Amino acid sequence: MLTRRKLVEEFDPSADHRTYTRRSGEPVPKEPIRIVPIINKTLHQCERQDKRAYMPPSRPGGDRAKFCVHPSQSSGCRRQVQFVLLDAKRDNTQPDPRKWRIFDIGHESHRRIQGYLFEAWKRRVNNVTRVWEDVKLRYDALMVLGELDAIVEVNGVRVVVEVKTMSKGLFEKMAVPKVSWVWQAHLYMKAVGLASAILLVENRDNAQMREFWVPFDQKVWDQIEFDTLEVLVDTEDAKVSRANPDPGDCMWCNYTTLCKSVPMQRKIDFERVWAA
Ligand code: SF4
Repeated sequence: MLTRRKLVEEFDPSADHRTYTRRSGEPVPKEPIRIVPIINKTLHQCERQDKRAYMPPSRPGGDRAKFCVHPSQSSGCRRQVQFVLLDAKRDNTQPDPRKWRIFDIGHESHRRIQGYLFEAWKRRVNNVTRVWEDVKLRYDALMVLGELDAIVEVNGVRVVVEVKTMSKGLFEKMAVPKVSWVWQAHLYMKAVGLASAILLVENRDNAQMREFWVPFDQKVWDQIEFDTLEVLVDTEDAKVSRANPDPGDCMWCNYTTLCKSVPMQRKIDFERVWAA
């Protein structure tokens, strides 16, 4: 039996929590692991907010990796994935401050939830025995580079935890997780060799939480592999990938000017795509 002192010694907030050694052959747990009860129990145990010992430090956003497929965009319009992969010329529009404020709110939510998970580890709530945060990952076969929010180990079973935030209206309407989130979770699972993931969604307006259990599904993975390889092969052949936006995608896309100028071209003019 571990003593309380020993537990606290094992929890080391200064250790490297971003490096994760890939596992293989991880089984899907018989029972889904649930994160919301862990967070709620942890917060019950914290008598006062300022007793929480660990909060991951804020990290500057920084530039995203270039010339790779980003897991969060993997399921979007094929042409957009290609433009991101090529680090193509973005629209010459003023950055929208409101958009950045929304991103900042999202980042802070992630940081706060990671803090709850670390506190759960420290207190061994519901047998949480290890937490990694902002784990860097790569999956070379599909040129994927990224970072996942957290890996949580409960009773020796490890799961990927991906945090999402959304407005009250969307949160209340959501019956199933978005396809893009499920794809993202699959890329993460494949890259770190785990068999299950949890999509943890927080309502930005009232802090309600929901979670979706996502076991690795080979059919989903086959589709991801097929679609991503299509973009990689197009790019190697200097061919513009097909445009298949979902409703609303173009409104948020950073490449609308470039996209309009190339739809009928069969070959990518690399000089033009990169022109400053
Ligand atoms: S503007 Fe629309 S169609 Fe073109 S790359 Fe962006 S999302 Fe795809």
